[in-house]
Amino acid sequence: MSEINYSQPDPQAALQSEIQAHLFNADGQPRTVGVIGYPVEHSLSPALQNAAFAYYKLPHRYQKWAVAPEELKAFLEKVKREEFLGLNVTVPHKQAVLPALDETDEVVKLTGAANTLLADNGKLAGYNTDPAGFLEALKNEVNFDPRGKRTMVIGAGGAARGVVLALASQGASEIAVANRTYDKAVDLVAQFAPIFPNSHIYATPLDPASWPFNRNPRALVVNATSQGLLEPDKEFPVSAEALSGRDPDRHTIFFDLTYGDTPFLKMVRPLAAHVLDGLTMLVYQGAQGFEFWTGLAAPISVMLEAARTALAEREKGH
Ligand code: NAP
Repeated sequence: MSEINYSQPDPQAALQSEIQAHLFNADGQPRTVGVIGYPVEHSLSPALQNAAFAYYKLPHRYQKWAVAPEELKAFLEKVKREEFLGLNVTVPHKQAVLPALDETDEVVKLTGAANTLLADNGKLAGYNTDPAGFLEALKNEVNFDPRGKRTMVIGAGGAARGVVLALASQGASEIAVANRTYDKAVDLVAQFAPIFPNSHIYATPLDPASWPFNRNPRALVVNATSQGLLEPDKEFPVSAEALSGRDPDRHTIFFDLTYGDTPFLKMVRPLAAHVLDGLTMLVYQGAQGFEFWTGLAAPISVMLEAARTALAEREKGH
């Protein structure tokens, strides 16, 4: 992982009166903010968001709520009624929140999911900060610009959808979408290929024997499957050589959206120009949420460090 020294925002910024007014209720209490999921116990978002609030010496405590699917509607009504600052939304609610939203943007429409909600005047706006978080992690951590690049995305679920949108919107020349269930890759490509005619977006089975020959190595390979989460002790099913495009010179950046040292990252490291794990994306997508809610610049280094510490503690079984 590359070491980057970010210039940190001014922590005194939170004291500006217009920012203060928005962050507190009429009775002077901090407006409520947190994450909903089911389960949600494993979420690292409280660690990184609370580090950002603490950086600005704000009294907000970012919380987590396990909300069962049948409780979702009532919970979102409470968020509106009680004028929460906002919410993060994780599995299984990212799609299910959409009918409750008063406003969404194009990214939510294209990915069919929202992970960040903003409450204001009894209304809820929904955003999906995953694609931007993915691109920011690539730009800031390894200085990667997708424009004109050959890329591959493995997986065809919700996360893969956001990654394909991100890469296509930034002008990647080629996006191969490989998935275990080939038909799901075909469906994903059918959605995005017509919208981005300047990128060659195509579906392929997970078996490299079926991949077309190209003499240029891939610039970026993204693992957007949950293999590392579900089978952390099993090998990744495709070899690093095949993924990079048989590149002996280590030109390829490998990005696993799952956190930590996954089977995919362990396998590709000897062939990689750089590797990134999902924690960087989690922090950058969370940073955008923090900025939406507070109007303050997110202290990225502080959030990254808090997320890494929380993950290490979780892996130790604390
Ligand atoms: P999802 O919708 O359930 O999709 C899962 C994908 O993984 C499917 O394409 C599935 O293939 C594939 N898959 C599962 N097990 C596999 C295996 N053993 N071998 C090959 N492929 C396998 O999940 P998602 O929401 O897209 O999330 C995917 C991963 O991204 C999760 O680990 C999640 O934690 C992570 N994620 C990270 C961030 C972040 O901020 N870092 C954000 C979002 C998601 P089939 O279609 O064949 O079942």
